Amino acid sequence: MKNEPCCKLCGSNRIFDFFQLPPVPTQDGVMMTTKVEALAAPKGQIDLRFCKDCGYIRNEGYDPSKISFDDYDFSNDHSPIFKAFVNELCDRLVEDYDLKGKTILDIGCGDGVFLNTICEKGNNKGIGIDPGFDHSKRKLFDQADVTFSREYYSEQHRHLKPDFMACRLVLDLLEDQTEFLKMIRANLEDCPDTILYVEVPNALYTFEERIIWNVVYEHGAWYTPESFAFQFEQCGFEVLNVSPCWNDEFLGIEVRPRAMDINAQLPNKANIQKLHDTVLGFNQDFESMMSFCNDKLDKIRKNNTKTIAWGAGARAVTFFNLFDLEKEIPVIVDINNKRHGKYLPGSGHEIVAPEFIIDYAPDLVLITNPTYAEEIKTQVKELGINPDFWVL
Ligand SMILES: [Zn+2]
Repeated sequence: MKNEPCCKLCGSNRIFDFFQLPPVPTQDGVMMTTKVEALAAPKGQIDLRFCKDCGYIRNEGYDPSKISFDDYDFSNDHSPIFKAFVNELCDRLVEDYDLKGKTILDIGCGDGVFLNTICEKGNNKGIGIDPGFDHSKRKLFDQADVTFSREYYSEQHRHLKPDFMACRLVLDLLEDQTEFLKMIRANLEDCPDTILYVEVPNALYTFEERIIWNVVYEHGAWYTPESFAFQFEQCGFEVLNVSPCWNDEFLGIEVRPRAMDINAQLPNKANIQKLHDTVLGFNQDFESMMSFCNDKLDKIRKNNTKTIAWGAGARAVTFFNLFDLEKEIPVIVDINNKRHGKYLPGSGHEIVAPEFIIDYAPDLVLITNPTYAEEIKTQVKELGINPDFWVL
């Protein structure tokens, strides 16, 4: 509910709003089939609230009725460096938890690449549950013993009793994380040895590094390693490991069920104070970031610099909705072929394949996600173009 007077995680009333963004599209994982549809995409306000007792950050503007996972296409799996990350993550999990010949359940499995990888590596049996799963992709996974079901995970799945459960980049998108984790915990009541692995964006990375463009509507909740661990302890799990991963942008946690009646310890006060100062600084730096971008865009206009953007992910959605760049940057390149010919929600920018830049021959390529900067620069050079780069 909006404007609740207390923290959703620890119940404290020592909370304050620290960052607002004007209405931005509510879904950055859904590209639109027409420009008209893209321009009319649902929007919502971002209004971040910080808890001074546990460090939990929540988007109070979040309205779950504006989010649908049915056509969701959040997938980085087209990128070689992301593939390498998934590969290493699966190697580590198989090794640490002896996942060989086991049953793996992946909640919100997306296109199934993670599930397929972990099943192939340990000869495991996989079950993927995702309301947006595209069954035409099933044929890609003929080698592994995996099944997919196009539905939401719920109490109805209690009978599954997996040895290992994964839930990657889903928890933060839900309205009530506590309710969801308690449902998982109840489903695991007879499975004391099941390991649960959950991944979310890392609040420390976004707020300490001032990655304004990472603040998207869909992230209803933001966690630090400590508040993340606290969230699981509150819901009846024992935390085995919590650590940043994927260039520190994500947090991964491994937990297993434990008795429900343990009082979880609040995160360390000094660390919360540090985070409190960080979020205040983030808001101040937002204004200077906006001036920096405006100056840069003025130069592009003045010099008539032929510019194209690369990367139609979440950061692009936020960026192109804060600046009106229909003329200056008319199209966005993306390597995900499912996005080609579609349009960015809110701004209506057309998404094109990398080869588009061969004829277009831009003077400047705006890279919307710094994590992929080196990979993108290499791809641009391989296409025979030698532009300048602006990395957001
Ligand atoms: Zn709190």
